[in-house]
Amino acid sequence: MRLTQLKLSGFKSFVDPTTIPVPSQLVGVVGPNGCGKSNIIDAVRWVLGETKASELRGESMQDVIFNGSANRKAAGRASVELVFDNTEGRAIGQWSLYAEISVRRVLTKDGTSSYFINNQQVRRRDIHDLFLGTGLGSRGYAIIGQGMINRLIEAKPEELRVYLEEAAGVSRYKERRRETENR
Ligand code: ATP
Ligand code: MG
Repeated sequence: MRLTQLKLSGFKSFVDPTTIPVPSQLVGVVGPNGCGKSNIIDAVRWVLGETKASELRGESMQDVIFNGSANRKAAGRASVELVFDNTEGRAIGQWSLYAEISVRRVLTKDGTSSYFINNQQVRRRDIHDLFLGTGLGSRGYAIIGQGMINRLIEAKPEELRVYLEEAAGVSRYKERRRETENR
């Protein structure tokens, strides 16, 4: 699956509906300090199911909702959608048949998050399952944040193994086995 578009609305500084195309394998985002570059990466982590506000540089999860400015009132909700090309049919289960896969998360001011795959409401863990073994989870290695290289260099062997298992696609089966054993 290849990420082709990001759509944000009411998320951090992206108050108006904004579509960010990802037209090729290598895309650079440039702009002055504070213009919202890191907010784009926060949006990707968030839609993939990040539940820790501190990982998104906030104090509470509602901090991702646009909080108003001198001439704009605060937004009532935040929404982020990732669109993936799935013409190779790599997505798991029922999703493999779709040429395009959209993954969306919406958060309202009362703190309720809803998740959708291709406009069908799903559980957070269905999103987790969709990306397990691809490296693109909310904590996957597809997003290398500041400090992560240092963390990898200093990681204990058992921590490194988690990354290797994710890269090899083994983590999906390990998780299934753990679930079966716990039943
Ligand atoms: P730098 O080059 O310094 O890393 P950047 O382009 O990565 O900057 P971001 O950190 O993505 O910038 O954006 C920070 C901006 O987002 C700040 O101006 C901040 O006020 C704004 N912002 C963050 N959360 C919200 C929110 N909930 N509502 C409105 N604006 C927000
Ligand atoms: Mg930044």
